[in-house]
Amino acid sequence: PPDVEQLGRATWTFLHTTAAYYPERPTPIQRSNMLSLLRSLPILYPCSWCASHLEENIKDHPPDVSGRLALSRWLCERHNDVNERLGKPRFDCAKTDERWKDGPAD
Ligand code: FAD
Repeated sequence: PPDVEQLGRATWTFLHTTAAYYPERPTPIQRSNMLSLLRSLPILYPCSWCASHLEENIKDHPPDVSGRLALSRWLCERHNDVNERLGKPRFDCAKTDERWKDGPAD
């Protein structure tokens, strides 16, 4: 079975980075592809208990693919839900761009 921690770090890196560079005004095609990507995770993610937690979480909190900021915020909150469940500290969602897009201000 995959290393759930390493898989998780790699997946969060991919998802947060992709959200950070998602357009502020996505086309209908970009929106529908992002929705497909996110909806496929509960079906395909190769950690079955992670996938079923995510499925339940997405039912309560449908993805917001309307634009970069909304998507980044939605994803940050979903990641915080996982952090909370695992007893990890919550991440400050105001720092999402600094972490995943711009880097720290100098
Ligand atoms: P990670 O949680 O992997 O975070 C990587 C980096 O992201 C952090 O160092 C930090 O800089 C940044 N970060 C942290 N929180 C946020 C946030 N809210 N927003 C933006 N950036 C942030 N593991 C399980 O054991 N059980 C599960 O049920 C489970 N479900 C998962 C579901 C999904 C969809 C994914 C992608 C992963 C899941 N994992 C699960 C894995 C788990 O979330 C972690 O990836 C893993 O435990 C490694 O944690 P980490 O402390 O190295 O940092």
